[in-house]
Amino acid sequence: GSSSDYIHIVMVPFMAHGHLIPFLALAKQIHHQTGFNIAIANTPLNIQYLRSTLRGNPIPGIHFLELHFNSSDHGLPPNTENTENLSLDLIGKFFASSFYLKTPFYNLLKDIVKKQCTPPVCVIADVFFGWAVDVANSLNTINIAFSTGGAYGTLAYVSLWTNLPHRRTDNAEFNVPGFPDRCKFHVSQLHDFLRKADGTDLWSKFMQPQILSSLKSFGWLCNTVEEIEPFGLDLLRKYIKSPVWSIGPLLPKSWLINSSASVRQHAGKEPGTSPEKCVQWLDMHSDDSVLYISFGSQNTISPSNMMELATGLEKAGKPFVWVIRPPLGFDLKAEFKPEWLPEGFEDRMSRNNQGLLVKNWAPQLEILSHRSTGAFLSHCGWNSTMESLSQGVKIIGWPLVAEQAYNSKMLVEEMGVAVELTRGVRSSISSDKVKEVVEMVMGKEGKGRDMKRKAQEIAEHIMAAVEDEGNEKGSSIKALDDFVSTIATARK
Ligand code: UDP
Repeated sequence: GSSSDYIHIVMVPFMAHGHLIPFLALAKQIHHQTGFNIAIANTPLNIQYLRSTLRGNPIPGIHFLELHFNSSDHGLPPNTENTENLSLDLIGKFFASSFYLKTPFYNLLKDIVKKQCTPPVCVIADVFFGWAVDVANSLNTINIAFSTGGAYGTLAYVSLWTNLPHRRTDNAEFNVPGFPDRCKFHVSQLHDFLRKADGTDLWSKFMQPQILSSLKSFGWLCNTVEEIEPFGLDLLRKYIKSPVWSIGPLLPKSWLINSSASVRQHAGKEPGTSPEKCVQWLDMHSDDSVLYISFGSQNTISPSNMMELATGLEKAGKPFVWVIRPPLGFDLKAEFKPEWLPEGFEDRMSRNNQGLLVKNWAPQLEILSHRSTGAFLSHCGWNSTMESLSQGVKIIGWPLVAEQAYNSKMLVEEMGVAVELTRGVRSSISSDKVKEVVEMVMGKEGKGRDMKRKAQEIAEHIMAAVEDEGNEKGSSIKALDDFVSTIATARK
């Protein structure tokens, strides 16, 4: 075959939007910087999704390979290949089922080795796929774990899952191995799954072995920037005792370099409101005056919190763009019902141009990069966090699940770019609290001004990290070069 058929690296991301997209971005970045050809392996529907994000412009040198997976074999609804739209009770089963990609992945890698007569330079696998270490080693290559999270959040996740149990009935704060005393965690920062986990439940039985095995990888890649997470990276490196390359942010280059350029976000999803309309709406508002609200690709809040949030926004009177989807307890794919918001809310908000409600999916990069966007009320998923920081947009944290509470904690305590409104899926907020926090953060004085200044400093570090023209290459570009030259000589 032609040289673009030779595969240097095989990647296998976990089956969730927030993992698939950064893996694809990593593949593009490695290919761009080194010319290495990359194959991304995943289940058929996720491969279809990844392909669709390229919108008919395949990249020579980036290949997509299917792994056999039948969700019905694992007690899941047919065609369940992604965490999106999956109810919380099925998520555990879904994670457990992902282990069954091991055999198809082994076969796929074996075929590649046979065809090419040499093993690929490395496998890059999701941290949740610790089984890839065995597969890679057995076929004479090495495994690299890619954490799609930040350094601090990744360490918290790794340490909490591998140091069970954490049954805290009291309100006390507690130390987490790997973190210094001053970074005490609180029980409310633990997801239910983790709070109940004792090593015998479905979640620990999946997480513990996978993470422990990932720790045996040759090294880790982290979607962060050396200069913005020196503390988290230092802790992570000491704890996992393997090399960690910080190669983030994995975001479209054109967007980072020239944020005023109109950028289509090729996420393969149709926004509920067109990017043009969002931009027109934002154009009507003054600099840094708009609050953008979104809970990521797969989360939502409770019905009562949705009401309180709406009421609080109306009371605060600040302009906002809010990505709305059905509240907890309802089918996320269902049509949005007006009754989930205060009566007449959408009309009032659109009549006085105070608020734009975007159904289900928004062109987030366009919104965050608009001069009018001043703050982001976010669930603190890591991709959203990096997108916000790279635009110097301060954050109101509302972490819901997974490692979001650790990201939020880091943003508040280490970076000083966020305040937390509330946390967890079962918390309840009041409209007055919403009003108070929104006013404080959106304010141009005091705390609001400090947060903005810090967010802008971080944005500058992020920009510098991806600089790859001129004499001085940025830290993330250098880290990726170093990563590639290290693995090229490491193969067994
Ligand atoms: N996203 C988007 N529009 C939306 C919601 C999400 O473009 O309405 C994108 C967002 O820009 C980010 C990703 O989806 O890149 C969400 O990833 P994150 O890690 O923040 O959260 P997750 O979805 O994994 O919880």
